[in-house]
Amino acid sequence: MKAPFYSYSLEELCNTLLSAGFEKFRAKQIFDAVYKNKIFSPDLIPALPKKLKAYLLENFEFSAGKLVGNREAFDETRKYLFELEDGKFVECVLLEAPSDDDGKIRKTLCISTQVGCASGCKFCASGLRGFFRNLTCDEIISQALPFIKEENRNGKIERKFEFENIVVMGMGEPLANYDNLLKALSVFNSPDKFAFGARRITVSTCGIADKLELMAETGFPFRLAISLHGATNQVREKIMPINKKFPLERLIPASEKFAKTNGRMITLEYILIKEVNDSFADARELVKIAKRLHAHINLIPYNKVESLDWERPQASRRTAFAKILKDAGVSHTLRREKGSDIDAACGQLVLRTEKTKETE
Ligand code: SAH
Repeated sequence: MKAPFYSYSLEELCNTLLSAGFEKFRAKQIFDAVYKNKIFSPDLIPALPKKLKAYLLENFEFSAGKLVGNREAFDETRKYLFELEDGKFVECVLLEAPSDDDGKIRKTLCISTQVGCASGCKFCASGLRGFFRNLTCDEIISQALPFIKEENRNGKIERKFEFENIVVMGMGEPLANYDNLLKALSVFNSPDKFAFGARRITVSTCGIADKLELMAETGFPFRLAISLHGATNQVREKIMPINKKFPLERLIPASEKFAKTNGRMITLEYILIKEVNDSFADARELVKIAKRLHAHINLIPYNKVESLDWERPQASRRTAFAKILKDAGVSHTLRREKGSDIDAACGQLVLRTEKTKETE
C-alpha cells in the first residue's frame, strides 16, 4: 500500500525522506511543486534527482482515484465519475454557479465524501443503494486534482485550479465523515498547502445537529448550507429520516449557535417538490426560520429521479412561493435548474452507471 501524500504534513514528509536517505530540504521542494505549482506527478517535478522521483512514485499515492466519463450538458455543467482504487464510483461536477460569497457566477467544483449515503432522504438518488463507505482524506482531495488550467505568464507556465469555489454537495453526508472531511478541507485551506480561501468552500449537510453544535464549539471556518427541504417537522420527517433524530427544535438552535460563531450567512437549501412542501403555508414557515437564522434561501426545483415518484411544481407555483419570501424581505434565489439533462442532482449519474453495468 502506498502512503497517501496529501495526508502528510511537511514535517512528516521530512522525517520520511530523511529515514529513506534523502536530504531534508527535498520535502519543501516537493511540497512547493505539488501545492504551489500543482504538479501532481513526482516524475514531472523539475530538479528532483531520478532516485527520489522513483522513490516517491513507488511509495506515495498522488491521486487516490481517477476521472472517468464526461457528459457535456447544454448549460456548461460537466459531470464526471471518479473511480476509486476499489472500483467504486463517486461523482464530481464542474458547474457555473452563483458564488455564496458575492453572488457572481463562478466555476464551482462539487465533490463527494462517501460512497452511497446512509441518510436515506426519500427524494434523493444517492441513498437508493444505501451506504457503502466513507471516502478517505486523500480521496476527497483527489477529486479536485484533474481540474487544472495552465497559463503562460511571460514564458513561465503557471498551473491553477480551474474552479474558484468548492461545494461539498456530491454523494454522501459530509458531516457523517467528519474527521476525513475536516482533514481534507484543511489541506485545501492551509496556507502551506493549497491556500484555498475558507469563504470559497461550502459544506452542505442534511442537518446532523450534534455535529453543528460541535462545530460551533470547536470552530469551523467554512461556509455551511443546510438541506432543510421542509419548514415543519410534519413535512420534513416525511422526506428526511434524519428529522426523527434531529427534529427542527434541535436543528434550528444548533444552526443558530453555529451561525453566531462562524460569522458567515448560512444557506438553507429548499427543494421544491410538488404537493409535498410547496404550499404558501410552507413558504410562511420557511420565512420564520430564515429570519431567525438570518439565512439565505436557495430554492431548487426538484430534479426528477427515474425510479421515484416526486415531481417539481409548475413554474408559476415556484415563482409564487419565491414571492412570499421576497415580500417578507428574505434573501433568496430561485435556481434555474442546472444540468438536469445530465442527471446533475446528487447521485443520479452513479446510479445510472451502476444500473447499466448490471444489465450489461
Ligand atoms: N448530504 C448532503 C450533501 C449532498 S446532496 C446534504 O444533504 O446536504 C446536495 C443537495 O442536493 C442537497 O440539498 C440534496 O437534498 C439535494 N438533492 C438531492 N436529490 C435531489 C434532486 N433529485 N433534485 C434536487 N436536489 C436534490
